Amino acid sequence: MTPALVQIENLRKEFGNVRALDGVSFSVEAGEWIAIMGPSGSGKTTLINILGGLDTPTSGKALVGGTDVARLDESGLAKFRAQKIGFIFQQFHLVPYLTAVENVMLAQYFHSTTNEPEARQALERVGLADRIEHLPGQLSGGEQQRVAVARALIYHPTLILADEPTGNLDEANEKIVLRLLGELHSEGHTILMVTHAPSIGQLADRRIDLAHGRIAHIVEPVRRG
Ligand code: ADP
Ligand code: MG
Repeated sequence: MTPALVQIENLRKEFGNVRALDGVSFSVEAGEWIAIMGPSGSGKTTLINILGGLDTPTSGKALVGGTDVARLDESGLAKFRAQKIGFIFQQFHLVPYLTAVENVMLAQYFHSTTNEPEARQALERVGLADRIEHLPGQLSGGEQQRVAVARALIYHPTLILADEPTGNLDEANEKIVLRLLGELHSEGHTILMVTHAPSIGQLADRRIDLAHGRIAHIVEPVRRG
């Protein structure tokens, strides 16, 4: 048996006297699409941030591909994020003074070397062929998120971490972003997606519900056929 791609073991995170994560354990197989749900403040973002090495746990472990993320040094962490992780945030987090194509090329730069034709192709794939030279400020929220998706998928990350990726989008752009996530999933990417919307959670293979920093329940996939 191959080990799980993501292994979370008794993960705890305290901010002062706030227990953001209070003993969370689960694992994710390569290729799974997981929805993480739960009310505001239940620890969803903290979990995603620890997995991506943006934050460190108080105790417990988060392993991605066998790597204990918290044990990486600064350069190891930068390499891990560039090679393994694709981030999609609710607030997009594009660099405001770089054009769409330059934002994607920045991710390429951190991965290895820039390749403008590939960056353009990634933007074409998300339906932004005519927005390649636009700055984030000249793009709608939906368009900015599609740039962020292009940036996240540019080097086929092992694990896509999406924190409320459609939280700031209108319905039309929500559909586009969800279709893109569905495509990435069918291409074999592993996705951990935080969402508030049960209708979006249903798209995933498995749903993990958090409450007060603990797993409230896990909804297993409905087997078809
Ligand atoms: P969610 O994403 O589910 O809304 P978070 O993971 O952002 O929840 O937060 C979980 C809890 O941890 C909340 O009570 C929040 O206020 C607290 N928290 C998160 N980040 C910090 C921080 N950097 N400093 C202090 N408290 C934090
Ligand atoms: Mg959050």
